[in-house]
Amino acid sequence: MKYLYIAGSLGSIGMQTLDIARNNPNEFKVIGLTVGRNLELAKKVIEEFKPEIVAYRTNEKPELSYKPIEYFGDEGLIKVSEYKKYDNEVFVNALVGISGLLPTVSAIKARKTICLANKETLVVAGDLIKGLVKEYKVDLVPIDSEHSAILQCLQGEKHDEVKRLIITASGGSFRDKTREELVGVKKEAALKHPNWSMGSKITIDSATMMNKGFEVIEAHYLFDMPYEKIDTILHKESIVHSMVEYNDGSIKAHLGVSDMHNPISYALNYPKREKLEVNRLNLFGLNLHFEELSKDRYPCLEYAYYAASKGGIYYAVLNASNEAAVSLFLNDKIEFLDIERIIYEEIHNDEYAKIDYNLENVIRVSYEIINKIIKKYGD
Ligand code: MG
Repeated sequence: MKYLYIAGSLGSIGMQTLDIARNNPNEFKVIGLTVGRNLELAKKVIEEFKPEIVAYRTNEKPELSYKPIEYFGDEGLIKVSEYKKYDNEVFVNALVGISGLLPTVSAIKARKTICLANKETLVVAGDLIKGLVKEYKVDLVPIDSEHSAILQCLQGEKHDEVKRLIITASGGSFRDKTREELVGVKKEAALKHPNWSMGSKITIDSATMMNKGFEVIEAHYLFDMPYEKIDTILHKESIVHSMVEYNDGSIKAHLGVSDMHNPISYALNYPKREKLEVNRLNLFGLNLHFEELSKDRYPCLEYAYYAASKGGIYYAVLNASNEAAVSLFLNDKIEFLDIERIIYEEIHNDEYAKIDYNLENVIRVSYEIINKIIKKYGD
């Protein structure tokens, strides 16, 4: 039996994790949940899984038929992350944004296995998190489809035999538009991802390709791979979820339908594989295409490599400027192309180089940048 904690349980990844727990009651018991603002859905989920501890996003909570331990606001995220009662505990971090960082840190210190869907954790604090994972001897398993694919392709292989990781990208909702055609595009169109149904922030990040930039950074940390050995490639069908090329010329690829239940199940059961009821990939008629992913068309991808080359606090600068800009776009405060302009300005600000890279500064600088940008464009 694995004892599950899910941070961000009402989001897309959280709900799909709950599906797997629901369908495998002998394998998983839900112990802790953090829930967002949708109290009706929160009530339904809490009553079904009866967790011991619950954290609510705000000060409001639904009426329940039993009394779990309850917390409110940011404190609750930490309380659920550090709650510890069983041996075999798994913490699924499905939070969005920088708010996912400290819960990951607390869960590592509580010696839980970390299943990570929150990208920002590794993007802003990859070195620090890796240090903690080593110190507390916990497993850190990716949930993102690309990293799950790479992890699966790496099984049984030697690290120094890897020539490169090849991360596939669908191209996002505007992949068929030229740069010129991106002027004035609407939020509603940006939120329509061609292949995946996901939360709004990651769907915008896919349209700008910042999502792929983040995935490059995550892959760098997850698989100890230098940036020169991480490539991205446009693959519109989203059937090949990523690949690993080896020194002998072999390329291993992971194929499957676009269904996040698959990588979630792999992460929850890692290093084992369990049966999963998903649509099966029909190999007949498959028509796979691969193209160069242009950094001119998608400058945010270039910005991610640039921030990575500066390193240290610039990872946080990259993420925070993106987080603020996407939020402004989703609230109709700026245009789509303003997102990349705002990020460009921040990552080229040399002042940040003076700031030491540590957890406290990563969080402080992140919120300072987010607040500054929101204030500047938000009114
Ligand atoms: Mg992904």
